[in-house]
Amino acid sequence: MRQIINFFLKKKFDQYFLRDHNIAKKIVNYLSFENYNTVVEIGPGLGILTQYLLINNPYHHIFLIEIDEELVSFLRRNFPISKEKIIHIDFLKWNPEEVNLQNFAIIGNFPYNISSQILFHILRYNQYIPECIGMFQKEVAKRITSHKGKKTYGILSVLVQTFYDVKYLFTIKEKVFFPIPNVQSAVISLKRKNENTNFNKNMLFQCVKIAFNQRRKKLKNSLQLFKHIPNFQKIPFLNKRAEELSVKEFLQLTKEIEIRK
Ligand code: SAH
Repeated sequence: MRQIINFFLKKKFDQYFLRDHNIAKKIVNYLSFENYNTVVEIGPGLGILTQYLLINNPYHHIFLIEIDEELVSFLRRNFPISKEKIIHIDFLKWNPEEVNLQNFAIIGNFPYNISSQILFHILRYNQYIPECIGMFQKEVAKRITSHKGKKTYGILSVLVQTFYDVKYLFTIKEKVFFPIPNVQSAVISLKRKNENTNFNKNMLFQCVKIAFNQRRKKLKNSLQLFKHIPNFQKIPFLNKRAEELSVKEFLQLTKEIEIRK
């Protein structure tokens, strides 16, 4: 553990604090506030993004979710946000329904060790989350925003893009953080799509995961789990590989399996 001022960095919480105020402002400015007026920040840390959230949006509701108790006390002492809106919890265990939040954006410089789980948690509650502006490890940001045929195209690309239009916004160098991480970072935006609500989410997740776990195999082989369903052979795309299927085609595949079951 290393000490900054009177705070101990905790490796287990993956703490890399942004030090560049221009970048912090830039990230916050990407929030559109279209059709929502509440923002939930994940992992505010020492509050560099929070500060600009408050300055730019004094009339909006802001909730902070921070796992580190020491940072929670720091935030409660230093930010004019009511105590119950600075929530001391692991984001992955946070349920927006418990605090009656049904329409909010998410923002954060996310802890990289749980970035995929954070995304899955967002997808679980996507009906409440119209927008997300998030900082990820660059390599993960590339995977989320990738398209079919690319090496980086995979589970995260398909699942996130089924629900959200994604955009790679910009890359951030290591040196603007304390401590300096080993990897570059990138900020991306997710804007919820209006279509695609009528399908079995669990089935989609299952198909995409199974298909990409054996990404070089043709789908007729990787999707053996479904071979007992009537007319399995008539399902489209079975002669293709996971990496050759677009986001839309995955959705079509899911629906075709679902109606035959
Ligand atoms: N937003 C700050 C801090 C980023 S570091 C900045 O840009 O400077 C990541 C932050 O996420 C840390 O504050 C860390 O304590 C917090 N964190 C880590 N795991 C978390 C979890 N599961 N739930 C909520 N916060 C978490």
